[in-house]
Amino acid sequence: MRCPLCKKPTDISKNNRFRPFCSERCRLVDLGTWASGDYRVAGGKVDDKEHPDDRRKSKFLH
Ligand SMILES: [Zn+2]
Repeated sequence: MRCPLCKKPTDISKNNRFRPFCSERCRLVDLGTWASGDYRVAGGKVDDKEHPDDRRKSKFLH
């Protein structure tokens, strides 16, 4: 089984809560969450000053 998005080999066992995708990232992309901006908004509402780590993580993902 391969991830429908990135075509990487995917773990389809119960251990993989994102199946049939390889990761949360691919699952979110497929759901259109990133395209609609929902994912970014969810993190963007957090105050940057109070959560510098979240901000860095978000930057890395994009
Ligand atoms: Zn993938």
